[in-house]
Amino acid sequence: MIKAPLDYAPKADALKGLTILITGAGDGIGRVAAYTFAKHGATVILLGRTEEKLEITYDEIVKNGFPEPVIVKLDLATLDDTQANELAAMIESEFGTLDGILHNASLLGRRSPIENFPPETWTKVMQVNLNAAFFLTRALLPLMHTSKNPSIVFTSSSVGRKARAHWGVYGVSKFATEGLAMTLADELEEVSRVRVNTLNPGATRTQMRSAAYPAENPADVASPHDLMPTYLYLFDEVSLGVSGQQFNAQ
Ligand code: NDP
Repeated sequence: MIKAPLDYAPKADALKGLTILITGAGDGIGRVAAYTFAKHGATVILLGRTEEKLEITYDEIVKNGFPEPVIVKLDLATLDDTQANELAAMIESEFGTLDGILHNASLLGRRSPIENFPPETWTKVMQVNLNAAFFLTRALLPLMHTSKNPSIVFTSSSVGRKARAHWGVYGVSKFATEGLAMTLADELEEVSRVRVNTLNPGATRTQMRSAAYPAENPADVASPHDLMPTYLYLFDEVSLGVSGQQFNAQ
């Protein structure tokens, strides 16, 4: 596993001219990543299920004079191939090409032993954390092959790399995410510039973290801002050719 350069300091306009889709851009790490990418010059496509939250991200970006983002309200719990293809058609007509995808949105679901795990929670979390990422990647890849700096980042977790009891569908979905990313990276290695990597943010101060660790003092964990050097590195052209790797952001 790789620790990206944690002190990586990109140029102010490192992502200028890039179009990057971020799922779950209305809260937590996704919101900070969207803002940070826009600050470094990218046009960000803000995908999420809660419009008001996406609008807050949008407003922060516009208020600071960064490139105007696009809001895409989509619920990944019901996303299918047709919706993913419609999104691809929209991006193609608006931008012609797509340079990056940050698969960030996820659900924690319930933490309980597999033996007692509620099937409906299992199915929903697999849909949001894994299937939706597959549908989006499949539909959007054709738009990325023509990019000069294409990068796909799948968000993983430590429980998606080493199994831990009672993390249930969340951990399993992250193992599957690692599998999807590594399979895709291997397929593209010789035939496309698209690089594909996974990124484990590590313990980070968000809603998801406080749901998983309610007794923890949020001040003891990293802020999403602390992770951004690694996120920027993976979309900056300095990481061109780096693919099939498992990164840690802390
Ligand atoms: P948050 O819960 O804070 O944010 C998750 C985002 O995903 C929200 O914007 C949420 O939207 C969105 N989302 C959830 N379900 C859907 C859906 N059905 N359709 C569209 N969007 C959806 O999580 P974090 O920021 O903490 O996590 C970001 C990523 O990092 C996740 O992949 C997580 O697994 C991973 N991670 C986080 C760690 C941490 O300590 N925080 C540690 C390891 C990994 P809405 O706001 O509308 O609910």
